[in-house]
Formats: sequence, C-alpha cells, structure tokens
Amino acid sequence: MRFTNRHFNLQSLLSVLCEGNKLGTLVQQTVTNGSPCNYHESATRPPPFMLLHKMTKTRTALGEVALIEQIRRDFTASSKAVPLGIGDDCAILRPPPGSEVLVTTDFTLEGRHFLRDLHPPESVGHRCLARGLSDLAAMGGTPLAAFLSLALPPSMLATSAGRDWVQRFFSGLRALAEMHRVPLAGGDTAESPNGNNGLILADIVLVGTAPKGEALRRSGAVAGDALYVTGQLGGAAAELAMMLKRHRRILSMATTENHPQLSPEPRLDVGESLVRRELATACLDISDGLSTDLYHLCRASDVCAEIEQAALPIHPLARKLGAKAALRAALHGGEDYELLFSAPASVLMPTSLAGVPVTRIGSLKKKRSGRPLITMIAPNGTHEELKSGGWEHFSGTLKGRKKRLQ
Ligand code: ADP
Ligand code: MG
Repeated sequence: MRFTNRHFNLQSLLSVLCEGNKLGTLVQQTVTNGSPCNYHESATRPPPFMLLHKMTKTRTALGEVALIEQIRRDFTASSKAVPLGIGDDCAILRPPPGSEVLVTTDFTLEGRHFLRDLHPPESVGHRCLARGLSDLAAMGGTPLAAFLSLALPPSMLATSAGRDWVQRFFSGLRALAEMHRVPLAGGDTAESPNGNNGLILADIVLVGTAPKGEALRRSGAVAGDALYVTGQLGGAAAELAMMLKRHRRILSMATTENHPQLSPEPRLDVGESLVRRELATACLDISDGLSTDLYHLCRASDVCAEIEQAALPIHPLARKLGAKAALRAALHGGEDYELLFSAPASVLMPTSLAGVPVTRIGSLKKKRSGRPLITMIAPNGTHEELKSGGWEHFSGTLKGRKKRLQ
C-alpha cells in the first residue's frame, strides 16, 4: 500500500473538475500556503451531526484502553440483533431467521479520502460510516452492526486539540449510526506509524442482512432494462471543489441535503424498498462516479448501456461550476453515494422511492461488436462513447489517469 501526498491529490482533483479555469490555481495557493480551513470559524450554521451529539469530554491524555472504554460508553446500544457488542474478544450477532448476512469493508484514509485541514472531523466520521452503509444500501440490505478499526497518531490522544478531533469524529459517526439504528459492535484501536507525523486511518466494516436470495447484485441486469439513478449527481465533487476554492468560507450547513460532500446520505430506505417491491434487476452505489460504476454494472451483467445526457439529474451545486464542469462532475465526480439500478422496461417506476427522486437516465443494450460499453447520447442526438473516467486506485501510473481526492 502506498500513501500518496495529499497536496498532490488536491491539485489533481481540481485539475479534473476545473480543467483550464482559475480554480486549480486557487487550490494550489491554498495548498502551498497551508491555510487551514477552520470549519467552526467559517460555518454560519453547524451541520446536524454537530448539533446532535457530543462525546463525553475528556480533559486528560487518553490511552487505548481509556479510548475504547469511552467509545463503549458513548455507543452503548442494545439491539436484539447484537446480544454482545464492544467489550469481549468478539461481538455476537443474531441475524433474523430467513436472512442472509452481507459484509462490506471500507477504508477512510487521511490524504486519500479526507483532508484534516479541510473536512470537519464530524464529516470524516459521518463519511466513514456512510461509505459502508451505502454498500449495504446498494444490495438492498439492512444494517445489523458496524465495526471500526482506527489508527491514530499519538498526538490525537495526547493533546487536547487531538482529543477534540477524535471526539468530533465519533460525534459525526454516532449521529449517522443512530439515524440508521446501527450499533457499533466492535473494532480495533492502534497507534499509526511515524509518530506525530502519522496519518489517521480508519476501516469500517458493516454487517447487514437481506432476505435470503434477494440481495441486489451488479450482475442481474439484462439487455432491454431501463437504467435509473436516485437523487442528483455531481454534488459531492462540486462541494469539494467549492470547499477548496472558498477555503475560509464553507457553505452554510442547514440540511444534510445541501452537503453531498460533507454529509452524504446513504440510500438505505431506497435499497430496501427496491428489494421489498422487487423493482430492480441490478443495483450498485455511485461511489466512484457514474461512468465508472455504470461500467462495473455493464461488465458484471455483460450488457452495454446508453445514457441520455439531457436526462442526467445534475446537482445544483455542480451546476454552479458551469455546464462543462457540471457534466464532468456528474459523470465522473464520485462520492455521491446515490444508487444506480436497472429494472425491466415494463416496470412502472415511481418518480420517487422512500422520498428520494428516481430518474430514468437510459437503457441497457445487447453487447455487439463495435458497440461501446457505454454510449452517451448528447442533447443534439449525437452518439459518443463514454469512457469510464471515475476513480480507480492505482490507475494513475497504470493508465495515466488523473488522480484526485477520493
Ligand atoms: P483484543 O485485543 O481482544 O482485540 P481490544 O482490546 O482490541 O481487544 O478491544 C476490546 C474491545 O473493544 C473489543 O470488543 C473491540 O471490538 C472493541 N474495540 C476496540 N477498538 C474499537 C474501536 N475503535 N471501535 C469500536 N470498538 C472497539
Ligand atoms: Mg484488538
């Protein structure tokens, strides 16, 4: 594993989103000057997760054992499905009869998935859990329990600023955990290498359930199916670009909906509804960008896709970047954590599921020689191949792709 320099990632992200405009220069200045983005100073209103929770305050240095004890106290949650949580060598989970167990794990690495001087700690905690919950949502699963492995540089427990960061991280994680009634049932805590220059590294494991044989896979789509997305696309990438640009003035945080980058909403209710109503043939979450995740769906289902540019639900924050950058953010931005799913064309799809808008963006076709895996139909009717341009780890050196924060 290689940890990339976060400054490099920042600049690359901007070059992807804002090719040729001034944003790249601004970020470069922000990055090289090292101007901190202090969330508390800049926010006009705190995000919901900041209002909801405060972890028990500790004034003295914490060790591993004390931190775990604090986590155990703050995350006490009784659940029929989790007869034994934090405190023993293993947790005990009791999935409901007739269900199948789903397991997913996701890294949240400083410099790769967040920047300590840009993302508020609550947002880092929220996004850490949201990544795992979104994977469960994509399979139509219901969360059972979460497990968090956390490596911290020693200063995070030895200094009050560090402890404050850790407390706020857990506040953000806990607010989302309570919203979705998922208990934190265990994990691991360790000191990260390289002393106080070490990185914050988190790995979240989500265990969920789905009715036996009914979890939604990427491989179930067939030619002729219609393609849908939930919510709006490009918002997370656009908000990140704006955070970088206005590094001292973060947008107001009235609702989580306006903060697709800082507090994405995993679409668990939509996923469950797709399973319960037997609407979808295949589904995945858009974590790496529509073009990349649609590519995954096509490969897994052995079909081609045609999407209509004019049908793409582009997030209003992305629209603010201008038409070209907005389209780029919607197609390749990533981190939106919306669902991309297919359904037979004969299904009368509701315009919203669990209160989340659902938009038909195209359809699936038979694979044929010479037909690109993904075709995008422009508003003027021209057909163009859409190459997967979203995030792929290790692809920078292999394929010459531009890297960015992801
Ligand atoms: P062991 O050495 O047996 O792995 P630990 O001392 O690491 O046990 O952990 C004690 C208990 O605390 C276990 O139940 C473990 O799951 C839980 N735990 C440790 N770290 C975390 C964490 N970061 N988040 C949640 N639970 C944790
Ligand atoms: Mg351990």
